[in-house]
Amino acid sequence: MEADVIVIGGGMAGAIAALRASSLGANVILIRKGHGSSAMSSGTIDIAGPTAFLPLDSWDSLPSIPDRLGEMLRTHALHPYSIVAGGRTGLGQVCYRLRQACDFLLDKVPGLQLDGSTAQNLALPTILGTVKFTAFAPSSLAGGNLREMRDAHVLVVGVRGLMFFQPHVCKQSLERYSSLHAPSSIGRVEVVEADMPRLASAAPATPFEAARSFDDPLTVEKFAQSLANSLPSDATHIAVPPILGLNRHAETYEIISRELRPKIFELISPTFSVPGHRLQVELEAALQRNSVRVVTTDVVDAKRDGRIVRNLVLEDMKSKRTATAKSFIIATGKFSTGGLVANDFPKEPIFKLPLFVGGKRVDNGFVQDLLSWNVDGRQLFLSCGLHIDDSLRPLDTFGEPAYENLFAAGAVIGEYDYVTDKCGMGVAALTGYLVGENAATLAAR
Ligand SMILES: Cc1cc2nc3c(=O)[nH]c(=O)nc-3n(C[C@H](O)[C@H](O)[C@H](O)COP(=O)(O)OP(=O)(O)OC[C@H]3O[C@@H](n4cnc5c(N)ncnc54)[C@H](O)[C@@H]3O)c2cc1C
Repeated sequence: MEADVIVIGGGMAGAIAALRASSLGANVILIRKGHGSSAMSSGTIDIAGPTAFLPLDSWDSLPSIPDRLGEMLRTHALHPYSIVAGGRTGLGQVCYRLRQACDFLLDKVPGLQLDGSTAQNLALPTILGTVKFTAFAPSSLAGGNLREMRDAHVLVVGVRGLMFFQPHVCKQSLERYSSLHAPSSIGRVEVVEADMPRLASAAPATPFEAARSFDDPLTVEKFAQSLANSLPSDATHIAVPPILGLNRHAETYEIISRELRPKIFELISPTFSVPGHRLQVELEAALQRNSVRVVTTDVVDAKRDGRIVRNLVLEDMKSKRTATAKSFIIATGKFSTGGLVANDFPKEPIFKLPLFVGGKRVDNGFVQDLLSWNVDGRQLFLSCGLHIDDSLRPLDTFGEPAYENLFAAGAVIGEYDYVTDKCGMGVAALTGYLVGENAATLAAR
């Protein structure tokens, strides 16, 4: 197996890297053993959210995304945003590159139907009635932007027979958030119940099962009719859990939006959510459209010659083979996806690269040292990962690029915590875009 550029990892970082390299004329293979965090996410693109939910006079007093980026550059010198910025004074540079990366994502993966911007966060309600701040979200989620719901009359829809959603909890929490933190946003919240034809008589359905049944236009129409009968005439918005279609979401959302007068939107579900699955499906469709060859297997080792990576060793149940390229990209994610492994010591298993947290090397220490037993404590393992240079090449223990033709993107890079910094997919898209460029340029030399 041979290509100009080989990308390891099929999440947001790997997919954008492969698409960018391919858009520059490189012949690209993407190898991934499965789905990663991108598919488990809420399906939104966080670039730089507020670190704490501070009381606000109105949503307009939220810090802008460039403000938050500026704060990160001042306080986190090793954050991937700071590396791309080239230091504290590079805010303009990182904003410009983020805009480029997001424009590229919107252009190459139009099926995501993203709304939002790199300037200001959307404020989106979750299934728990809390608020998530994020830069971009699919339009069915972005329709719930609380910044645009002043005096709205919102109906939270409880779907009979659906697991994991308590509409009354969502309502109470949403009312509380709105009244405490941004008093001007929502006028009134009510709960209504609706039946889903296919679920009514069956055992409780998971969100994925419910979403799959919404792929049938007949189910959508019946659901819309059952809902239309119980709508108060002054309702302005309808909030539903994120179940409006699994593989035919765009059609489902179009039909249901047409059938119902109030604006219908999906609530954010923090994890293993249907929109995360939709995002992964759209990334893969984009790879296929752009002639990136996707191979599903495990990369278990790499053959290196001095400071050059020569080839990768691939292994699955059936065979062991090698893959050769001029440049390589590691976008394998963190512990949950196998990008990093933790048997006593944390390790990067393919290239055996050193790992860092807070500027200190940690792959020679116990993984327990990265865990806080205090539930409110900062979990260091979340920011464990590779150090990179300004070309996004992983560094060795001496702070030098480990290999001339190896680049890193996404969550395998260390020194940021997507939970606290609210920047998971933003870092993945930005670094993926840049390494795609760097790897393709090197391969073309
Ligand atoms: C539960 C959860 C919810 C989240 N929600 C959000 C959110 O709402 N918004 C947001 O912006 N961020 C969110 N994040 C963070 C965000 O999902 C990640 O930062 C981002 O998806 C990382 O993308 P990635 O491409 O680097 O890694 P991943 O998406 O994890 O992809 C890693 C890929 O590498 C592959 N791989 C690993 N090892 C190998 C190997 N040896 N051989 C071959 N392939 C390999 C995996 O199979 C996978 O395809 C969330 C994270 C989690 C865990």
